[in-house]
Amino acid sequence: MNYDIIVIGSGPGGYVAAIRASQLGFKTAIVERESLGGICLNWGCIPTKALLKSAQVFEYLNHAEDYGIKVSGGEADFGAIIKRSRGVAEGMSKGIQFLMKKNKIDVIMGTARIKTGGKVDVKDAEGATKEYQAKHTILATGARSRELPNLKQDGKRVIGYRQAMNLEKQPESLVVVGSGAIGVEFAYFYNAIGTKVTIVEYLDRIVPVEDEEISKQLERSLKKAGINILTSAEVQSVDTSGKLSKVQIKTSKGTETIEAETVLSAVGIAPNIENLGLEEVGVKTEKGRVVVDDYYKTNIDGVYAIGDIVKGQALAHVASAEGITCVEKIKGLDVQPIDYNNIPGCTYCSPEIASVGFTEKAAKEAGYEIKVGKFPFSASGKASAAGAKDGFVKVIFDAKYGEFLGAHLIGSNVTEMIAEIVVARKLETTGHEIIKSVHPHPTMSEAIMEAAADAYGEVIHL
Ligand SMILES: Cc1cc2nc3c(=O)[nH]c(=O)nc-3n(C[C@H](O)[C@H](O)[C@H](O)COP(=O)(O)OP(=O)(O)OC[C@H]3O[C@@H](n4cnc5c(N)ncnc54)[C@H](O)[C@@H]3O)c2cc1C
Repeated sequence: MNYDIIVIGSGPGGYVAAIRASQLGFKTAIVERESLGGICLNWGCIPTKALLKSAQVFEYLNHAEDYGIKVSGGEADFGAIIKRSRGVAEGMSKGIQFLMKKNKIDVIMGTARIKTGGKVDVKDAEGATKEYQAKHTILATGARSRELPNLKQDGKRVIGYRQAMNLEKQPESLVVVGSGAIGVEFAYFYNAIGTKVTIVEYLDRIVPVEDEEISKQLERSLKKAGINILTSAEVQSVDTSGKLSKVQIKTSKGTETIEAETVLSAVGIAPNIENLGLEEVGVKTEKGRVVVDDYYKTNIDGVYAIGDIVKGQALAHVASAEGITCVEKIKGLDVQPIDYNNIPGCTYCSPEIASVGFTEKAAKEAGYEIKVGKFPFSASGKASAAGAKDGFVKVIFDAKYGEFLGAHLIGSNVTEMIAEIVVARKLETTGHEIIKSVHPHPTMSEAIMEAAADAYGEVIHL
């Protein structure tokens, strides 16, 4: 019952922290109340990517003739698509079980609550509580779908992301409220398999955290695919009393009502910080998140927090990086704080979006004099051969020193391309060094080199 480190929550923050702790020689336990792998593996990153792959296969089939292939009778089998996605998630969760065993980490199933003096109570499914003791406790309890007061989720007509990836029947029509990564991924998926989809976004553009040019391009692409998009639109109420739900929306033009079988609320997340014992132990929170230092220590000695419950981008790779940093610091290794300006963000609709660093607007606001380069995939040989000419690469450099300030990509497979830019920025690569790094031909990644060349007036293929 005595551990060096107890991790609460087994998402990509928690399980990665536990593995690193075990590698560093700490006697480690992990507590999980639901399924190993957390939201990411069970209800987030992985099952959504499985759904999106099915949508992509269906789209390929529907456009097979563009590639000289004749097919007939392709049909999206909703039940089978969901079953495949759930199977992929289950397989990933089992993989974490294997990793815990391999790394000799004790898995304690139940709901944890911290107490003073490094004690952790865990209540199992039968209601029995056991007390454990740890020198260090890492909170990694993640988040859930955020609810708006005028958009209460009933799990059937008004749903959150969990239900959206596990519905029994494909809805004929769907209103998606919120156009962040989760909202547009579901909008793309359901539209691709034949549901009539409307996106409602409160701000004046979709994917509002992205560079403005990315928002414009995505809006064009999603509209071309048949999705109805309302921006600067506020949901006022939802009436679920009739056969179809009536969503009342206020826009600059007045009020309108959209009818749909299902309404998906995708307006963000709410960190799981309740009933964890934070108040009793005296752990400081602010705006619904646990307050931590650069190495994830809270104001209480021996208590740490990582992942979606602390400030920073709510992403799986961020949670994992925080877990590793936190544990290495506990061990006393020479670790550097994470650079949150060099975290890639990806959205896996079609076309995909991948970005890192400053947007053009943010770079200007930060006082940089900038050089911007852009290369459209319509000018790329690989994109033409692949039939994927939608989108572009946009890069931003500091005009004075050539510092790589940011990159914004939209197009096929760009989520696989962004890591090059993350590494380049980490190594403080300049614009000219990117231009002089010979990229393979034909690849989509050539567009990065060409975009950098465009910023310096040296672009070849435009
Ligand atoms: C639909 C969707 C798609 C997403 N897609 C992506 C993506 O493509 N890429 C990406 O980077 N991110 C994505 N995310 C975000 C990503 O899933 C989260 O950022 C990530 O899971 C956060 O990791 P975490 O370790 O902080 O917590 P979580 O993964 O949320 O795990 C927390 C775990 O703690 C457990 N827990 C909570 N309280 C207790 C307690 N008291 N006792 C015991 N256990 C407890 C929970 O059951 C859960 O298993 C997506 C999210 C959603 C919802």
